[in-house]
Amino acid sequence: MEFKLLINGQWVGGGSPIEVKSKYSGEVIGVLPSARHEDVDAALSAAEGAAPVMATMPAHKRGTVLARAAELIGEQREDLARTIASEAGKALKFARLEVDRAVNTFTVAAEEAKRIHGETVPLDAASSGEGYFGFYVRRPVGVVAAISPFNFPLNLVAHKVAPALAAGNSVVLKPATTTPLTAVKLCGILADAGVPAGAVNLVVGSGATVGEWLVSDPRVAKVTFTGSPAVGKRITEIAGIKKVTLELGNNSPVVLAPDADLDYVAKRCAVGAYYNSGQVCISVQRIYSQKRVYDPFLEKFVKASEGMVVGDPLDERVDVGPMIDIDEAERVDSWVSEAQAEGATVVIGGKRDGSLYWPTVLTSVGPDMKVVAEEIFGPVASVIQCDDFEEALRQADATEYGLQVGVFTRDIHRAFEAIRRLNFGGVIINDTPVFRADHMPYGGNRKSGIGREGVRFAMEDMTNIQMVAIRLDT
Ligand code: NAP
Repeated sequence: MEFKLLINGQWVGGGSPIEVKSKYSGEVIGVLPSARHEDVDAALSAAEGAAPVMATMPAHKRGTVLARAAELIGEQREDLARTIASEAGKALKFARLEVDRAVNTFTVAAEEAKRIHGETVPLDAASSGEGYFGFYVRRPVGVVAAISPFNFPLNLVAHKVAPALAAGNSVVLKPATTTPLTAVKLCGILADAGVPAGAVNLVVGSGATVGEWLVSDPRVAKVTFTGSPAVGKRITEIAGIKKVTLELGNNSPVVLAPDADLDYVAKRCAVGAYYNSGQVCISVQRIYSQKRVYDPFLEKFVKASEGMVVGDPLDERVDVGPMIDIDEAERVDSWVSEAQAEGATVVIGGKRDGSLYWPTVLTSVGPDMKVVAEEIFGPVASVIQCDDFEEALRQADATEYGLQVGVFTRDIHRAFEAIRRLNFGGVIINDTPVFRADHMPYGGNRKSGIGREGVRFAMEDMTNIQMVAIRLDT
């Protein structure tokens, strides 16, 4: 099936064709043109032209368009879910949940579009401000460049496009080259919902060309990026003076106190470690268990992990589909083999067939092994024994990353100690780090990023504060 780029409200061709393949069967499921430099230029000009249209569109109209988009996404749930499952390899049941979340993201954006406001500023708090009345308002930044990864081809695009439009901006979107088809369909929905021509533009092509052309262009006022820390760093180097939000990786820990319900923790950790083949930025990777419950927990976690069905993501029974490509599955395999050579035990898994990688549980790992210290981004979890809760917190926090962490305890004192001690953007008590509601502030500390998403929080950073001071005595 042939797809096109969306520039200034028109579906247009571009440069050389990109074949998008099913990540399970390898069959070509769509072809679309890669954007040339002139296409990116045209998309940016269109966005620049549409920026004043969006900025002056009344809030209730922006809300209506976004609410209609949410409705249309819901109506096309099955088609979108099957597109996600095919192009990203995500098990259909989880692809459907991603669509449901995108409906919610757009619904929240429709609501937030109507409550963008500033506040009064008591200027007379300073002697120099006597006789002045002050307030500030929030203005849209203008053109937003949105660059998204492969692992949530719909909802992570939604987390950029919906708040940008809600705040009255225009957008140029570059989805991941391996998974652009869901984004093409979303852009079609946005046009049908009444987004003005030029307010959302879609360009597809390699990050090193199309991505960098966007990031470095002076017409862009704000870059919103989700992806790997290496690319995030590159973006900070080439962006110049513009706003940048970076949602990057994590090697997510779980801290397990002996008072927790082990059956519940084991089940939640298994879903959290293997969902989307572990290709989730907040996937469960390191589980710190106190000695007292280590053996019974490991037994339950292994059992829950063995219960995961691996295979064709379009099969309703499947929990774990293929990884995004064979290279990634081979990389994960090599990290597991390296850990094994360094003394780790592969309790289950460690098995690969093409791009399928089986749920894998490791024990006897060390803190410097790649499977612990770096983001594995695959279906592999390590269970690590700790002397006490204090030691578990210390090890969980001993990382360069800081996106989300899960802590299982029924002891309120332990919970607050964890909240105080853990330097992460999100601390999830009694669930895994995978928990996310689309309206909550979400983002990382340390190497996990800069800024926050979660519709209202993304909108704050997609607006500029404009201060108004009025001298009253003239
Ligand atoms: P990636 O390789 O960094 O790619 C992300 C996006 O950036 C893609 O659209 C990519 O284009 C583009 N890109 C690549 N090089 C670029 C450059 N030099 N300039 C501008 N754009 C460039 O990441 P990925 O493999 O798709 O995703 C996995 C990573 O994303 C993991 O580290 C994961 O933790 C992180 N992630 C974070 C969050 C979060 O919310 N914190 C959520 C999901 C994923 P191409 O597709 O053409 O390479």
